[in-house]
Amino acid sequence: MSIEVERSPHLLCHRCEGPLVLAARISTGWINASGAAVSGTRMVPLCDHCDHDRPASLGLLAFCRQNASLTDENLDEFAALLSGWLVEIGPANIDDADLADALTAWRAESELR
Ligand SMILES: [Zn+2]
Repeated sequence: MSIEVERSPHLLCHRCEGPLVLAARISTGWINASGAAVSGTRMVPLCDHCDHDRPASLGLLAFCRQNASLTDENLDEFAALLSGWLVEIGPANIDDADLADALTAWRAESELR
């Protein structure tokens, strides 16, 4: 399984059509009953207007408002918030290695901008 975190003005909320704060793309793979490898992707949106009903969403929204980019100082805080949010919204079995990979990739990308 892998996680990709995207933060882009081009990502729109499917509920209110406003810009998303971020979106996590979670790819999973499994072997089905006939033995074939199957994979699927789930996109999990975080919207400033629509996602106020969960405590972990609020924490992550607040972080994103206060921090334009990830730095050495705020990376651990972001990782904890993101991890809590992903657990809360319920994609199965995200482990720390997946999360660490996603954060490293996302951070490298945001430094290029
Ligand atoms: Zn929305």
